[in-house]
Amino acid sequence: MSIIESITLTLALVYSISLLYWSGKKWGAVAAGGLLVGSLITTLYWPLWLALVVAVICLGVANRYQNELIKGEVRSNTLRDVIQHLLALSMLLVGIQFAANAAMLKLGITPWLMRPDVGDAFLPIAGGIEIKAILTLGIWDQNHPAAAVMLTAVLLTGLLCKRAFCGWACPLGLAGEYLYKLRKRFIKRELLPPIWLDWPLRMLKYLLLGGLFYIIFTMPTASIPHYLNGNYHKIADLKMALFFITPGLVTLMGFGIILGLAAWRRQGFCRYICPYGALLGLLSFLSPFKIRRSTQHCLIESKGMNCDKCTRACPAGISVHTQAHIRSDECQACMRCVSACPKQQALHFSTRNGIKLSARGLTIMLLLLLFIVPLIAYVSGFWVSQTPTEIRMYLIQHLGSIGH
Ligand code: SF4
Ligand code: SF4
Repeated sequence: MSIIESITLTLALVYSISLLYWSGKKWGAVAAGGLLVGSLITTLYWPLWLALVVAVICLGVANRYQNELIKGEVRSNTLRDVIQHLLALSMLLVGIQFAANAAMLKLGITPWLMRPDVGDAFLPIAGGIEIKAILTLGIWDQNHPAAAVMLTAVLLTGLLCKRAFCGWACPLGLAGEYLYKLRKRFIKRELLPPIWLDWPLRMLKYLLLGGLFYIIFTMPTASIPHYLNGNYHKIADLKMALFFITPGLVTLMGFGIILGLAAWRRQGFCRYICPYGALLGLLSFLSPFKIRRSTQHCLIESKGMNCDKCTRACPAGISVHTQAHIRSDECQACMRCVSACPKQQALHFSTRNGIKLSARGLTIMLLLLLFIVPLIAYVSGFWVSQTPTEIRMYLIQHLGSIGH
């Protein structure tokens, strides 16, 4: 685990423990803290210890100047912004480290910067095939184990807290938000497609997801070991990077469409193209937590007033004020509707039997799912790639000619 991975993981877990403590879940804080310290003692991996020191210092300093943030007692929009920007910064640093490692390999220099394994999160097909291998053959991939681990962690977030990963953690979603804001500076008007066009466009991401499923499910189980031990899989991450660095005309056109969609309408990329969003959208139907509107407290039913502040705040264009609970696969659990609601208790993210999850609670759940799963995987030896550096260095010289 590289230093930037160690710092992000430890900071996220220490912050979750702090939030658990301040929200009165002291036993939860003790359990999460015990798991973290236990993992550090088990591995005795110095970057994790260094990261723990950095995390404690960061939280101590933040506690002095941003006490409410450390306690999670800020508005949900602020909390979400902080989490999303910090995770995006971490992914940016991971990307730079990955590029530096690959450049050194290409130049024939033994890299002094580690390859950050979390980059395997961008290999969803490999992750899907690896999970299939674990379930059907009991084989754990040794080349990109982090792909299966990250896919599992993200899927768990979808099962438990809808598309909170998209709304609170995804760096691409954040980049799309900035692109949309940039477009709005020049063209103020909302450019929403008519409903008859919006629906088929939304189905595009499910088509792409269907394509990914097709590749994963139609691969014969017997040929999975051959694929996992093949040269293509060993450098699937470098192949992916090459795809983005040296795009052909069709790829460039694809990028243009993606950027255009993101600028055209808010969450355009998430809504129309992202297969991860589609997968999480499907899982989100199973999530026990949903945005629920209490007709007992909502100003519409309780006071007979006209109010649609929640609907106007929703970036996904969901008509919140007309529904008792939001089932939509487009809901990213961003809580903007809850934040915009003038009536306390009218809107919450809760289960059917009334268990409510505040923005702080959602932050804890999301961070624990996203970071405890990789920590357990790391301690169990299923995180770090075992592909020897010499093999990657050799294969990167022949990147263009290596196929499936
Ligand atoms: S319904 Fe609420 S939580 Fe869901 S996307 Fe809209 S604003 Fe966000
Ligand atoms: S913003 Fe609150 S009070 Fe207004 S319609 Fe939505 S839930 Fe009801």
